[in-house]
Amino acid sequence: MKIAIASGKGGTGKTSVAVNLALSLRDSVQILDCDADEPNVHTLLPLTQDQIQPVFTMVPEFDETKCTRSKNCSAFCPTHAIFVSDQGITFFPEICIGCGGCILSCPSQAIQEGQRQLGVLHQGMTAPGIEVVYGELDVGEPFVVPVIKAVKDQAKNSEGTVVLVDCPPGVSCPMVESVHGVDYCLLVTEPTPFGLHDLRLAVDTVRQLNIPIGVIVNRAGIGDQQVFTYCASEDIPILLEIPHSREIAELFSEGIPFTQRMPDWQSKFRELFQVIQEGIRK
Ligand code: SF4
Repeated sequence: MKIAIASGKGGTGKTSVAVNLALSLRDSVQILDCDADEPNVHTLLPLTQDQIQPVFTMVPEFDETKCTRSKNCSAFCPTHAIFVSDQGITFFPEICIGCGGCILSCPSQAIQEGQRQLGVLHQGMTAPGIEVVYGELDVGEPFVVPVIKAVKDQAKNSEGTVVLVDCPPGVSCPMVESVHGVDYCLLVTEPTPFGLHDLRLAVDTVRQLNIPIGVIVNRAGIGDQQVFTYCASEDIPILLEIPHSREIAELFSEGIPFTQRMPDWQSKFRELFQVIQEGIRK
């Protein structure tokens, strides 16, 4: 079972929800932290053994001795990463999306597949017996999606394993790639006008992927009632409300998931999981 934890907006508490849900379930749980720009699950659940491997993307390699200056490659390239002149080929790897079209369009087989490192993948167990996988995009790299795909490729498909996908914020390609293929999506929001604005965007996006959704209201008690009114009007269940609490905020700032010091919440997260299971079966 794969459950995405997403939100239209950063800072709503997605990671806190993912980690506390994992700690409340404990057995056979894997967390995939897909926020490769800024992964932070491991700050709450440090890895005891960290296996690190590089993540590559395909980039073309040019053999200038075979090039006949047809310029088909630069004409095709959707990102204008190739410039061909009589003097030679200039290639800008940072803006290449690895589509491979230049290789196919070359009439003289002067282009081969090469690779370029984009980041790294971390994988390991944590002290409570939960597996964590996270990607880390190299500084200055603009394309995060290949790193997210590498993280998602590590998802366990064994029966009985719960895979929690901690998604990047927003509703653009990284979020869509992270949510794609899950069985259920939890949208974490806060009851403010900003929270509502970005929740609407997230709901529209996830509905287009035909994934069942439920909402968690974090920092309940601040703001207004508009998020609740919106969810009622859209028939979206609010599965859990986490109060605006100084204690929870202080624990988070110390790197302590709040269910570790407030054990009553573990049963609430387990109830949440049961409701999600029922939502998937419907
Ligand atoms: S692989 Fe695609 S994006 Fe990269 S240089 Fe070739 S055509 Fe352009």
